[in-house]
Amino acid sequence: MKPLISIVLPVFNEEEGIQDTIDTLLNFTEQQEENFELIFVDDGSKDHSVEILSHAADYYENIKLVEFSRNFGHQNAITAGLDYISGDAVVVMDADLQDPPEVITSMVKKWKEGYDVVYGKRAQRDGESVFKKATASMFYRTFRKLSSIDMPLDTGDFRLMDKKVVYQLQQLKEYDPFVRGQVTWVGFKQTSVVYHRHERNAGETKYPLSKMLKLATDGIKSFSIKPLLFANIFAAIPFVGSIIYLITIIATSSYSAESFGIVVILLSISLMLVTLGIVGDYMGRILNQVNKRPRYIVRDLKGFQQNEKVYKLKNN
Ligand code: UDP
Ligand code: MG
Repeated sequence: MKPLISIVLPVFNEEEGIQDTIDTLLNFTEQQEENFELIFVDDGSKDHSVEILSHAADYYENIKLVEFSRNFGHQNAITAGLDYISGDAVVVMDADLQDPPEVITSMVKKWKEGYDVVYGKRAQRDGESVFKKATASMFYRTFRKLSSIDMPLDTGDFRLMDKKVVYQLQQLKEYDPFVRGQVTWVGFKQTSVVYHRHERNAGETKYPLSKMLKLATDGIKSFSIKPLLFANIFAAIPFVGSIIYLITIIATSSYSAESFGIVVILLSISLMLVTLGIVGDYMGRILNQVNKRPRYIVRDLKGFQQNEKVYKLKNN
């Protein structure tokens, strides 16, 4: 039987380009040997995107639409899309054709070779500001330093995932999910395809600076507790300051009530910061616990019956 590939597309106010996206993808999927379904998740668009998509869903059997009650954000839209797939694998892509459909062919090829995740790595990005490219590049590098997961550089959410990876993502019930971090975190056999990211087919980016900042900080907060420990590092400044000051007043014999007062203040600030750091440390542990991630994940099982295996992989 031919495999079924689901394509998940989050949509937010894309009326100018969405019809073109639908037509291009239908045209592309018709030429492939696999079967495809398109799952559009409308993330509370205020324009005519929903009308265009509902029309397409009525007309074409392989187009589905998940409509949100309001704007929940790109990452939640992707998460919802993954809950509604019926494919053997899923590809997540922007609804503005910045991620070229042809790349899906190479992703599917790698999937058939046995990879569970094939992410798109951007070699070149057209039509995006120098500021966006520079901040994105800075973010990926900072993220890697702060978090303990090895997220590949310069990758977005454009990627193919096997359905067993999707089952695992469905178990992560985090608020404000950072999907690309989660995909790295679950592990499995991952590889990349390099591609050239195009300009959007129409309209403006739906990621203003505020949303970009939220995405970046959500990413760091859900995969790193190091910022909570910054207080410990800052504590060193008044501590070292007070010691230097103390040595100076002793060496120059310039003791006075004020000078000792300064030492006491500096030392207590340092003590307060260390205490804050300890609180942060414990809070970090609570956060990890509250996130309720499973402690291990099985990639495959051998020697089981097929239906049992499917059930186990889904529920491990
Ligand atoms: N998007 C969304 N909800 C949002 C913002 C964006 O569903 O709150 C969608 C948007 O329609 C697009 C994708 O997420 O399909 C990525 O957004 P965009 O193309 O604006 O980001 P960029 O490519 O500029 O980083
Ligand atoms: Mg885009």
